[in-house]
Amino acid sequence: MLEKVLIANRGEIALRILRACREMGIRTVAVYSKADRDLMHVRLADEAVCIGPASPTESYLNIPSLISAAEVTDANAIHPGYGFLAENADFAESVERSGFKFVGPRPDTIRLMGNKVSAIEAMKKAGVPTVPGSNGPVGDNADDTLRTAREIGYPIIIKAAAGGGGRGMRVVESEHQLLNAITVTRSESKNAFGDDTVYMEKFLQHPRHVEIQVLADGQGNAIHLGDRDCSLQRRHQKVVEEAPAPGIPDDIRKQVAESCVNACIEIGYRGAGTFEFLYENGQFFFIEMNTRVQVEHPVTEMISGVDIVKEQLRIAGGEKLSITQDQVRLEGHAMEVRVNAEDPVSFAPCPGKITYFHAPGGNGIRVDSHIYSGYTVPPYYDSLIGKIITWGPTREVAFARMRNALEEVVVEGIKTNIPLHRDRIFRDKAFAKGCVDIHHLEQKLRGINSK
Ligand code: ADP
Repeated sequence: MLEKVLIANRGEIALRILRACREMGIRTVAVYSKADRDLMHVRLADEAVCIGPASPTESYLNIPSLISAAEVTDANAIHPGYGFLAENADFAESVERSGFKFVGPRPDTIRLMGNKVSAIEAMKKAGVPTVPGSNGPVGDNADDTLRTAREIGYPIIIKAAAGGGGRGMRVVESEHQLLNAITVTRSESKNAFGDDTVYMEKFLQHPRHVEIQVLADGQGNAIHLGDRDCSLQRRHQKVVEEAPAPGIPDDIRKQVAESCVNACIEIGYRGAGTFEFLYENGQFFFIEMNTRVQVEHPVTEMISGVDIVKEQLRIAGGEKLSITQDQVRLEGHAMEVRVNAEDPVSFAPCPGKITYFHAPGGNGIRVDSHIYSGYTVPPYYDSLIGKIITWGPTREVAFARMRNALEEVVVEGIKTNIPLHRDRIFRDKAFAKGCVDIHHLEQKLRGINSK
């Protein structure tokens, strides 16, 4: 059992982790940059340590600083949250080498899944369906590359093995563009990720983004908590998420979830994780795995009743999963909107002082946020200031509750994307019906902007 956890993150996820620790009677250490003294979880933590200046590279990404903070406070585990160092295998290794427990998978698993080529290979071996593609890195022989591409069929997407955050991808419509596009993607990837390995995949035209949440204890037990649909995206960034993914036949849903559980057992996975898929014409295609808790984990918690962060902490403490697959009951429907401090039309970040905040409430409404009246959103980090999550016995009820919540919530002093959610997305007829593809939101926004 863990006694004291250092939370190596900030904002809403740091508060989320702190709440889980407190429920479990685990003491907490908050770390914060000089720009983050006023964060809510810093006030609530048992101890708090300033780890450096505002710049993330000098604070939340500063491995020696984080390890020292854990040492001086005598913490016995480190929870990385999401973003920052959460999927950095070197960090996980440093944490374990320094004698702390890392709340996440083993470093070698993070490394395996961090490279998309090796991740896809491992998933194929485990029987998870993948996108038709080059089956490994693109080599130097142009004739081989052209032949492989012809076999896959155009359009093709070239992807950087080390890519992430929606970067390092290029779509190729026809053969004459292919070799040049590979050269450009290689050099971009080398610059951005320090690795010029690229691979090819069939570019799917109208897929949905559907993902499976898993939990595994690294002691031979693994379960899934169903799926989520995160197709509403802008620049490959999720904007709204829901669980379960609507309109997928039960047998197909079950089959893919079970293949993920098998993969967890096969690779000896430990912790919470997400298998991300594209779903098109009744078929699932694996694209990547996230080896951490995700922003959208609450929608799964709302339909399953399982506290994913508490399970992460239990697993890191060496305990077995507290539930079996048979005990997982998925009920009703949940939706989540990401509230960002940004202009709802131009999407420019909008940090500053929140002069007034009023949270929505009522049956089936959950707010995960660190903001409060008088809090100043610093300009140095991600613009996410909170999440509104709703649950209902049906998708329609969850949807109606979200509309209510978006009418009720008040954030004054800074601009947020609440008007985008309230006046556009939750009034969109196609989205209200469900099952829109990953291009839907951008197409809608282009329509607005051209008016
Ligand atoms: P990242 O690691 O940068 O998030 P992913 O591999 O997860 O990259 O892909 C991000 C997004 O890019 C997907 O959600 C989807 O919108 C799009 N995408 C990726 N691969 C394909 C593909 N083969 N066909 C169509 N769209 C794709």
